[in-house]
Amino acid sequence: MPKNLLDFDAQALAGYFAELGEKPFRARQLMRWIYKAGESDFAAMTDIAASLRNKLAQHACISVPTIMREELSDDGTRKWLLDVGTGNAVEAVYIPEETRGTLCISSQAGCALDCAFCSTGKQGFNRNLSVAEIIGQLWWANHQLGKNAEGNWAISNVVMMGMGEPLLNFDNTVSALRLMLDDHGYGLSRRRVTVSTSGIVPAMDRLREECPVALAVSLHAPNDALRDVLVPVNQKYPLKQLLAACQRYLEKAPRDFITFEYVMLDGVNDSVQHAHELVRLVRDVPCKFNLIPFNPFPQTHYQRSRPDAIQRFRDVLMQADIVTTTRKTRGDDIAAACGQLAGQVQDKTKRTVRKLVEVH
Ligand code: SAH
Ligand code: SF4
Repeated sequence: MPKNLLDFDAQALAGYFAELGEKPFRARQLMRWIYKAGESDFAAMTDIAASLRNKLAQHACISVPTIMREELSDDGTRKWLLDVGTGNAVEAVYIPEETRGTLCISSQAGCALDCAFCSTGKQGFNRNLSVAEIIGQLWWANHQLGKNAEGNWAISNVVMMGMGEPLLNFDNTVSALRLMLDDHGYGLSRRRVTVSTSGIVPAMDRLREECPVALAVSLHAPNDALRDVLVPVNQKYPLKQLLAACQRYLEKAPRDFITFEYVMLDGVNDSVQHAHELVRLVRDVPCKFNLIPFNPFPQTHYQRSRPDAIQRFRDVLMQADIVTTTRKTRGDDIAAACGQLAGQVQDKTKRTVRKLVEVH
């Protein structure tokens, strides 16, 4: 089997080149071809010696997941369905804005955590994506969207908010993050790369040490009783532990706040009392809030909060001096909004949270 070079971060690629008897700078040269030029054909890498190109063509490849479908929304949002083999597909979404282009990418086929309001969770867990499958989403989107007038790729920001829990696919996620940050890779600043987590406390500590990028934490409830239901992994890592981990993360984070995501569910977590409780809960954590109006999908009984409820909720947070934005729902017409990414997952076996508790 040829080695897929998209599976290697800079260090691993240098190691592979050493095995081939090649110098480390050759590995960096190759990375610039792959990520800066978006090239996947060794033959086109003209400043690399023909002998090395031949060797690579024999032993290696640059292979991104096959695209099964592309959908374009009226608002410019684009969604790609990527085939990751054995009947599994994941989704990546591009969201153009005036000053930036954001790509939302997936980290797992399905998700084991089964949050009550999430379409990915409803499918169960299938498997972790490889580094190549994670970075391949960015490679593919850049390839499709091309560069702007200044010669930069259209994608300026990456958020790991697609399918799956990135911190439960830790090693592959970190290698992919490193490729995004590496000067010979995409060269994105740490502030422009965001990992979203449902709150896997030990992995948050590891991320802080190994690759601190901007962090978004899916809070969704102001107390343990409600969060246990909405985000079941809360039973393992309750709010007190989660908020302490957020504070520790800030010691090394590229931004001086944590973004808390809060899905607005009609009559469930959206009252003014909930908002006041939330203000008390996060008192000691420098943070911003992102309120996400719930995005419905076929198998759900939840409903989106009414706009006036969202406004009142936001007012309470703002009065407590917490910067709060309400997320605009983009790509509604192509089911590309947060939590609607369904992809296609063959094996619907659910690892229950109980099992997860045993494993971690
Ligand atoms: N597993 C990670 C990242 C992927 S989910 C996490 O949970 O943070 C990205 C965001 O979408 C999370 O905040 C998640 O709670 C939210 N989300 C999931 N389902 C949603 C839905 N139906 N409507 C709105 N947001 C949703
Ligand atoms: Fe998994 Fe995130 Fe969906 Fe929860 S919200 S089931 S952690 S993808």
